[in-house]
Amino acid sequence: MRAVSLVSIFCLATVLALEGQSKNRTHIFLITVDTLRADHVHCYGYLKSTPALDALAADGVRFTETFTPSPITNTSHATILTGLLPNLHGVTDFAKPLSTAHQTMAELLRADGYQTAAFIGAIILDSRTLAPGFDRGFDFYDNFPEHPLAKARWNRLERRAMTVVQHAQSWLNAHASPATFIWLHLYDPHDPYEPPAPFPQSYDGEVAYADSAIGNFLAYLKNKGLYESSIVIVIGDHGEGLGEHHEDTHGIFLYDSTTHVPLIVKLPHQLYGNRVVDEQVRTIDILPTVLDAAGISVPHSLSGRTLMPLITGTDSTERMAVAETDYPVRFGWAPLRSVRSEGFKFIEAPRPEFYDLHSDPAELKNKYEPWSPTVQRLRALLTQAGVNPVAEASTGSVSENTLEELRALGYLGSTDQASSTKVSEPSLLPDPKDHIEEQNLMHLAMMAEEDSRFSDARLALRKALLLNPESYSALQQLSAIELQTHQYTEAEVHLKHMRLIRPDDAVAAFDEGSVEDKLGNLRVARQALDASLRLAPNQVPARLLLGDICLSSKDTQAAESQFEAVLQLQPGNVAAQLGIARVSLAEGKITAALSMLTELSRENATNPEMFDMLAQTYRRSGRGDLAAQAQKHASLLRKHKSRSLEEPRL
Ligand SMILES: [Zn+2]
Repeated sequence: MRAVSLVSIFCLATVLALEGQSKNRTHIFLITVDTLRADHVHCYGYLKSTPALDALAADGVRFTETFTPSPITNTSHATILTGLLPNLHGVTDFAKPLSTAHQTMAELLRADGYQTAAFIGAIILDSRTLAPGFDRGFDFYDNFPEHPLAKARWNRLERRAMTVVQHAQSWLNAHASPATFIWLHLYDPHDPYEPPAPFPQSYDGEVAYADSAIGNFLAYLKNKGLYESSIVIVIGDHGEGLGEHHEDTHGIFLYDSTTHVPLIVKLPHQLYGNRVVDEQVRTIDILPTVLDAAGISVPHSLSGRTLMPLITGTDSTERMAVAETDYPVRFGWAPLRSVRSEGFKFIEAPRPEFYDLHSDPAELKNKYEPWSPTVQRLRALLTQAGVNPVAEASTGSVSENTLEELRALGYLGSTDQASSTKVSEPSLLPDPKDHIEEQNLMHLAMMAEEDSRFSDARLALRKALLLNPESYSALQQLSAIELQTHQYTEAEVHLKHMRLIRPDDAVAAFDEGSVEDKLGNLRVARQALDASLRLAPNQVPARLLLGDICLSSKDTQAAESQFEAVLQLQPGNVAAQLGIARVSLAEGKITAALSMLTELSRENATNPEMFDMLAQTYRRSGRGDLAAQAQKHASLLRKHKSRSLEEPRL
C-alpha cells in the first residue's frame, strides 16, 4: 500500500475541501476505448503489455468485474453518458435518438460550470447522422467532415487514436478553464485490425496502439499540470468475441467475452491509488460516480449508483448486471436478454442458457433447467430489472449514405429483416446460436466489400449460403455486390431467389426490375416493377424506370401514365417531364414535344440530356440548323461536366 492510503480515510470531498475549494472543481477526462476486452489488458492479467493503462491503474482504482448492458457501441455509450439502461435512454440501435427526458453527463457538468468537449473516433458516434442527441451538453463535439476529401477509411469513417488525442490536445490548448470535461472515444480495437506501424496487425496490436495514444494523452495532461487534480476514467464500451462461442466480433451474443470491460477510475491526487475493487459493477454506475466525485448531486432517476462506497470500502455488495441486444433481429434472429448475479448468468433466448460462473467462467456448460430455483430467481430479476421488452428492432430515419457508412463499418445497414419477419412473438425467431457462423461470414463480406475486395466478399457470402441457403441477408448482400460490379446475370439469380422467399419485399422486386432492364428482358422487368409498385406505390425511381421501359416497348400510353404518376408525387420532377416530352415525340406530336422541351431547357440550362432531346426534336421537325446548335450545346455541357469531375475536390 502506498502512502496515499493514509488519506484514504477521508472522503474525497474532505480532501478537496482541505485545499480551500468549496466545490470539487477539477477536470474530468472520460476515455472510452471501443471493443476493449478486460482480459486483453495487462493489469487485468493479460500477457501482452499495456503500459499506459497499467500506470493509470496504479494511480487509480481498477474494477475487475465491470459489465456493459449492451455489446453495441451506440447503446453502450449512451448508457455511459446517461447512467441509464437502454430502455430509459432509448438508444437501442444505431441512429436512434438519445431521449431528451434525462440529462447527460455533459449537460449535468455544463450546468455546473464545466466547459465540455467530445472527440470521437468513428462516424457511428457522429451526432448529425448515426448518434443523434449525443452532442447535447457539449460546447464542442468533434463530428466528422460532412464532405470528406478522402475515399480512404481514415478520417471518413474512422480516426486513429492519435488523431483523436491530437484534436483534444489542440482544443485544450485553446480553451483554458478551471473545470473542463472532455470525452475521448478511441475506436481502434474495433475491426478491421489495422493499427499503424510498428504495431502488429491484430486485435492486440490495436489495443497496444490505443494504449500508446492513452499514454500520449496522459503525458500531455502531466505536462500541462492537469493530471494531478483531475479525474481520469478509462472504460471499454464492450468486448470482442475473438472466436469465443464462435462469435468473431460483437453485437450478437451477451457472453462475458463482449460484455466484460475494463474500468479504471483515477481520482484527484491519486486518491485510493492502486486499489482494486472485485465486486461486480456496471457501466450505468459511471455517471453517478463522476457526479459524486465532482460534488454534484446525483439525479434519483439514474439506473446506476455511485461507486464511491466500493472505492472507500464502506460497501462490498455486488451489483446485478443486465444486458440486452436487438442486433440479431437485423438478421431475422431472436433478440437476447441476460442477467449476471452472484456468479451466475442467465440468458433469455429461444434456447435459454444458464451458467455457473464459479466453476465455468468461460460459459461453456449450459446448465439451463426451467425448474431450477436459481434460474427462476434470475429470470424474475431480469423481468424486474427494466430491460427493454423483446421487440422488433428498428432504426431512426437515416439516409442511404449513412446506411452505407454503417455497412462499411461492418454493421448490417438495413432493418427490413425485422419488419418482414412477420412473427408476433420474437422468441419464435431462430436462435442466434444456430446462425453465428453465417453472421461472421456476412461481417467478413461487409469488410471485404468496403475494401473493394469483391471476390473475397463473394466467397464469404457463398459460404454463408452453403450454411443456410435461405439466408435472406446473405442473398441481399450478394445481389448488392453483383449489382455494384455489373454482374447482372448473377444478380438476377439471387434476386429471383429472394423474391421467392419474400414476395412482399418491394426493394428486391425493384432491384430485379433494374437487372432485367439491364439484361434487356423488358417484359420481365416490367412485371417485377409492377409488383414492386403494388407493394410500395410511391417509389419515384421505380415509376421512372417503368416509364422508360414502357417507352422502349412502344407502350406510350403506359409510359405517360407512369411519368404523370411521378409528377403527382413530385411536381416539377425533370426526368418525368422529359419522359412526357419523349412520349409526345414517340407519338409523333412534334409541336407539343418541341414546346415542352423549349420550356424545360430554359429551366434546366445545364442538362445535356435535355439538349440531346431538343436536337432530336428539331431534326424531326426539319430544323437542321437549330438541331445542330442544340447538339453542340449538349456536347459543350458534357465536356464541362467531365472537366469539373476531374478537378480535385477542395
Ligand atoms: Zn463499440
